[in-house]
Amino acid sequence: MEEKLITTVPGTRDLLPDEISRWHLIEDRARQIFTRYGFLEIRTPIFEATELFARGVGEDTDIVGKEMYTFHDLSGRSISLRPENTAPVVRAYAQHAMHRGGGLTKLYYIGPMFRHEKKQKGRWRQFYQIGAEALGSDHPAIEAETIEMLLELLSSLGVRGELLLNSVGCGRCRPDYILLLRRELQHRTNDLCEDCRRRAETNALRVLDCKVRSCQPIVMQLPRITDHLCAECADHFRRLQGFLSDAGIGYGIVPRLVRGLDYYVRTAFEIVSGDLGAQNALVGGGRYDGLSEVLGGPRAQGFGFAMGLDRLVMLLPEDAGRDAGYRPGVFVAYLGEEAFGKGIAVARALRRRGVTCHLEFAGGSLKSQLRQANKLGAGHVVIIGDQELRRGRYLIRRMEDSVQWDVSMAELLEQLGAGGS
Ligand SMILES: [Zn+2]
Ligand SMILES: [Zn+2]
Repeated sequence: MEEKLITTVPGTRDLLPDEISRWHLIEDRARQIFTRYGFLEIRTPIFEATELFARGVGEDTDIVGKEMYTFHDLSGRSISLRPENTAPVVRAYAQHAMHRGGGLTKLYYIGPMFRHEKKQKGRWRQFYQIGAEALGSDHPAIEAETIEMLLELLSSLGVRGELLLNSVGCGRCRPDYILLLRRELQHRTNDLCEDCRRRAETNALRVLDCKVRSCQPIVMQLPRITDHLCAECADHFRRLQGFLSDAGIGYGIVPRLVRGLDYYVRTAFEIVSGDLGAQNALVGGGRYDGLSEVLGGPRAQGFGFAMGLDRLVMLLPEDAGRDAGYRPGVFVAYLGEEAFGKGIAVARALRRRGVTCHLEFAGGSLKSQLRQANKLGAGHVVIIGDQELRRGRYLIRRMEDSVQWDVSMAELLEQLGAGGS
């Protein structure tokens, strides 16, 4: 009886060798550029105590309330696959007392996150993020620098992103603004969508980022938080804009850009790409000075972002980074069993000298092996036949002009070894 093929779980996918070059390109560039800015990589576990996200992301958010992969492990602990990685990074920061050194701690991560979202095009339940967190400073310059680093990454990939900024105030000025917002919303309850009617009571800020069309005219007329900042928040926002301008970075101020959680303060930002459509932010980030304390850690000001890799990959041309893919420098062609043994030895010697070397185990005619070498884009082919074996000589064929010459083993390694031609 034939078994039914087992396939990926809905909402997940394989990233095949064919498309991996774009992922490598982004990841390599991010590592390069982030390191230059003093961010070091951190790898936290893919699953954490559920409590971490319940507290760090918020129990009444969609992410935690509806979308987490939560289960009990064999010891009865409640475990969740990470739906985001700021809370885990801040947990690690506190757990390993990274604040003790004083000064800034800059960390970045690359990896999969998990959310059981409604199925839609371009949304995956295992999706990938690159993110960075700068902990230990509330200076607006670190925000500008982090944004500059991000934009540098995007432009090195040929992706144009538009920076959107807002300030969400702080524990001193935001409560008054929320009262004002609630008062305004009370007059308009009948015109609001069902979610917003609830939000007006529980979390009025969230009304501002409602995506429902009928709410938009109301949202547009609501008072703007940037008109109600305390002196410190207004000053911070002004200085951030100054640092951005000094760096030649343009931006738009968007009052609807808010984050629903209390520990988010002051700067909130997004980078959107027109190529992704209106509501598809490529990057979201902001300042979260209270998160560490919410998690039971030390007081630690933080600023960071997360960028969706799956979306970024879609913006790159299909062959981006392809050169970095598999392209053997040398293809070893052989004729006959005896030559095959020699071919293995030649390939081994070349690989040890740093050369990407290809050997077809199926053999075949010289013609078919040359065709294969051509298809793979090999620079040179080493040809080993009976005649060559007997004389201890080998043929090198340069693929670009089909010129062939005859060499000893020592010459072969010298000419084709890494650093040779
Ligand atoms: Zn304030
Ligand atoms: Zn609404």
